[in-house]
Amino acid sequence: MALKNCVSCGKLATEFAEIPCANCGEKMIRCKRCRQSSNPYKCKKCGRDGP
Ligand SMILES: [Zn+2]
Ligand SMILES: [Zn+2]
Repeated sequence: MALKNCVSCGKLATEFAEIPCANCGEKMIRCKRCRQSSNPYKCKKCGRDGP
């Protein structure tokens, strides 16, 4: 199983979703916990942030 760093909490996540940035389409990793609690994220490519 692949581990990826969540863009919201920065932790390695085993359960995550890849969500494309609304602005530039860059794939962002969000862990299950951050998705459920709607933690804010920030695109590392274009800097756009969202809930
Ligand atoms: Zn997270
Ligand atoms: Zn972006």
